[in-house]
Amino acid sequence: MRTATYGLRALLGCALILLIGATVLPTAALAQAPPGQDNNPGIGPMKVVQVTPNVYFVVGGVGGNNGNSGVIVGAKGVVVIDAKLNSEGAKQLLDEIHKITPKPVTDLIFTHAHQDHIGGAAAFPSGIEVFAHENAKAEIEKAIATGGRNAPPREAVPNHVVHGSGETLKLQGIRLRLIHVAPAHTTGDLAVWLPDQKTLFTGDLMATIRKAPLVCKDCTVEGYVQTYKVLTALNAEHVIPGHGFLITNTELLERAKYVSDTLSKVKMMVADGKSLPEIEMSVGDAPEPGPRGMSIPLFSEICYNEVTHKK
Ligand SMILES: [Zn+2]
Repeated sequence: MRTATYGLRALLGCALILLIGATVLPTAALAQAPPGQDNNPGIGPMKVVQVTPNVYFVVGGVGGNNGNSGVIVGAKGVVVIDAKLNSEGAKQLLDEIHKITPKPVTDLIFTHAHQDHIGGAAAFPSGIEVFAHENAKAEIEKAIATGGRNAPPREAVPNHVVHGSGETLKLQGIRLRLIHVAPAHTTGDLAVWLPDQKTLFTGDLMATIRKAPLVCKDCTVEGYVQTYKVLTALNAEHVIPGHGFLITNTELLERAKYVSDTLSKVKMMVADGKSLPEIEMSVGDAPEPGPRGMSIPLFSEICYNEVTHKK
């Protein structure tokens, strides 16, 4: 049953923080489970996975549904991607980093402004460089001003703002490209590409715990299509999604094709005068669980609303 309105989707569809209902598997099983399986390692115990000699990602943690974090050990310091859901999770993450290397954390990069990726910022050392896209900065500042239980900490406000389509830089001797293409998951999405390690951190532009992507406020499916074109062209050997397991470019290409094909099909059917129920039946996509057990529209309906400008 689909009960959520489009506005409700915009409000809730992006707060993966409280996603519940998934099965928590033992750590070993989580590490080996293939993408797309019905489980969510974000709510499981923290686990560190080594990707290359100096690149790791960290799934799970205490406190709720944590986004994945990246850990890149550089010359004299550590670059971290995303800060977990809250301070407790972030402290756990910092403890795990300390087991990997005695080098201090010097840089923190946010893939977007959602709590499950930035909420732990206050536990990080003061004085570090905090990177986020300019649109993410605006979202963070707005969320702090609005307040409430899930407001991000002030430490989440970036002191290094990434503008426009992104930035190429070297941190701790590591070459990085911070990539922003178009509003897709959030207005301030940043993917992190390590060309020398052929490793891509997508943030929630890719989450293997769902088949369809979440399209938040002021974002579009077309934004995903454009973003995936850029990300898949990198031909990454290792792709770390915002939630879920390590994947390859093949899975990213499959997701890109699914999103692009669905949007194209909906466009054609709308042009042919087909109704939403006809389109939904033809696309045949299945409902997927939303945050806090609430239902969110089918991906075909999200595409339909975008194509018909009902968003
Ligand atoms: Zn997330």
